[in-house]
Amino acid sequence: MPKPNVTASVNPGIMVIAIDGPAGAGKSTVAKILAKQLKISYLDTGAMYRALTLKAMRCKVNLEDGPKLAELAHATKIELKPRPAGLSILLDGEDVSEEIRTVQVTNNTFYIARAGEVREILVKWQRQIGQTQSVVAEGRDIGTVVFPNATKKFYLDADFSERAQRRIKELRE
Ligand code: C5P
Repeated sequence: MPKPNVTASVNPGIMVIAIDGPAGAGKSTVAKILAKQLKISYLDTGAMYRALTLKAMRCKVNLEDGPKLAELAHATKIELKPRPAGLSILLDGEDVSEEIRTVQVTNNTFYIARAGEVREILVKWQRQIGQTQSVVAEGRDIGTVVFPNATKKFYLDADFSERAQRRIKELRE
């Protein structure tokens, strides 16, 4: 089977809107609204990192072992399915939309996100999605690494105290 041509380029007829910015800046809120208005998909890259973190925790993989995490990623299927209020996140077919938002997963995502081997795999998946359909994609490396040639790029930021308050609220919820 021919390998998909996965590059950072955007295919003709496809629109990729990249929303970059730090944690708590409001990227997902804006991305969801924009995707709905434009009637295109919402690509929540953070949810992909979170889902893989959950799998690593369940499989008791050492979170500091990059090669093992990459092996795990290769054996994992993460799907983002649209639903009226946003996305359902499927991990190997199981809906983990709620579970990936727990404090434990949030804290451990740091280890998965810093593993270069894992980032490479996730970036490839994200590009594959953006090459087959129009998306509003959000994440801290979206406009710089994943889709440097995005149709439109936005960088969203907010006051540090405002971002911190939002993060606290999110964790409380
Ligand atoms: O956006 P969200 O809080 O769901 O992302 C969870 C974590 O995943 C971030 O704190 C960050 O460590 C990581 N992440 C990343 N690159 C992305 C998206 C998320 O490193 N593109």
